[in-house]
Amino acid sequence: MAVEAPRTHADVNAVVGGYLRDLAFAQASPQKMFGYKRAANAILSLDRPLTELLAADGALPRIPGIGPGSTRVIREILETGASPTVEQAVDRSDRRADIHRRRELRRHFLSRAEVRRVLADPGFDGPTVEHYHGDLQMHSEWSDGSPTVDEIADACVGRGYQYAAVTDHSYGLKIAGGMSMGEAAAQRLAIEAVNARMAGRFRLLQGIEANIDAAGGLDLTDAEAATFDVVLAAPHSKLRKDDDQTDRMLAAVRHPAVRVLAHPRGRMSGSRAGVLANWDAVFEAAAQRGVAIEIDGDPARQDLDFTLGRRALSLDCIFALDSDAHTTGQLAYAETALAHARLAGIPADRIVNCWPLERLLAWLSNPSSERRR
Ligand SMILES: [Zn+2]
Repeated sequence: MAVEAPRTHADVNAVVGGYLRDLAFAQASPQKMFGYKRAANAILSLDRPLTELLAADGALPRIPGIGPGSTRVIREILETGASPTVEQAVDRSDRRADIHRRRELRRHFLSRAEVRRVLADPGFDGPTVEHYHGDLQMHSEWSDGSPTVDEIADACVGRGYQYAAVTDHSYGLKIAGGMSMGEAAAQRLAIEAVNARMAGRFRLLQGIEANIDAAGGLDLTDAEAATFDVVLAAPHSKLRKDDDQTDRMLAAVRHPAVRVLAHPRGRMSGSRAGVLANWDAVFEAAAQRGVAIEIDGDPARQDLDFTLGRRALSLDCIFALDSDAHTTGQLAYAETALAHARLAGIPADRIVNCWPLERLLAWLSNPSSERRR
C-alpha cells in the first residue's frame, strides 16, 4: 500500500514525515525509533517545503534532527515520490500491520509548510491571519500548560489579538492537572489583574475546558460552569472505541453551558481515530443551538480537519479556530486551524474568533443569537 498524500501531492513534507514515522515504528531499537520520530517532527515543522530547500546541485541543507539515514529517505522521496528503503523496512518488520494502521490515521494532516502555503495562497476563500482577533483554547500554569496568564496576555498582544480565552482543564481531568473551583477563583483574580493592566487594549476571558464523560455529561455542575466566561466541552476518554458515540456527543452540544465543542473527535495523528459518531447529526444539533464546532490547530490533532469542516459548514455550523497551546510559542498553532478553515471554504463571518469582542460576548451570553437554522 502506497502512502497517500494528505490532500494533493504538494505537501511533500507531510509525505516525508509520514515515511519517517513508518521507519521509526519499523525499528527494533528504541533509540533508533526515537531518532526517526524526531526526524519526522523536524520535517513536519519546517516552514518551507523540502523541494524549495534543495540546492541547484541537489544538496539538502543541514536540518537539525536529521541524520544520514533520514537524509537517504528524503532523497529517495524527492527523486521518485516514494521510499523503497522504508517500504522494505516495513515489509520486514513484525509491526507491519500496526504501521499500516497508523498510515490510515494520518489522513488530512497538514505539514507546517503546507499551512503557510495555504495561508499565503489568495486562491482560497476564508479567513486570513488579519481576520483572526483572538484564540479561545489554550492552557496555562493553572492546569497542564506552562505560561502564566500574564505571559499569555503579552504573547497574544504580540500576535495582534484583541482578546483570548485561557481554558484550563476542569477538575474532572486529573491527568491534565484539572483546576479545582478554588483554584479557578484564584485564577479569576489573576485574569482581572491582567485586564486591569491592559486597560482596554486587550481582553483576557476566563474559560474552562470541561471533560465530556462517557454519557455526554460535563465534569462540573451548572452553577460552576456559570462562573466562567466560556465553556468548551471536549472528549478525552473512549477515544479508541469502535462503537458509535453519537448520543454522547449530542448530549454535550445540547448542554446549556457549552459554547464550543473542542477537538470534537479527539483523534491523534498516526495513533488514534478518536470518537466515531454520526457527525451530521452532531453538527445539526450544534447549528440549532449556536454552539461552535472547533478546529483545533495542534499539529497532532488538526481536529476537525477541512473535510469534516466542509461538512459542518454545509449544515450551517459556526466555528471556533483555536491553538490548544500549552506554551506561548504554540499560539502559532492557530494558523493550522486557519489553514483548514481556508481549505474548507469557511467564511470569516462564521468564525467566532473573527468577530469583534462585542459580538463574541453577545454570542457567549446568548448562543441562539448566532443560530443559522
Ligand atoms: Zn482537550
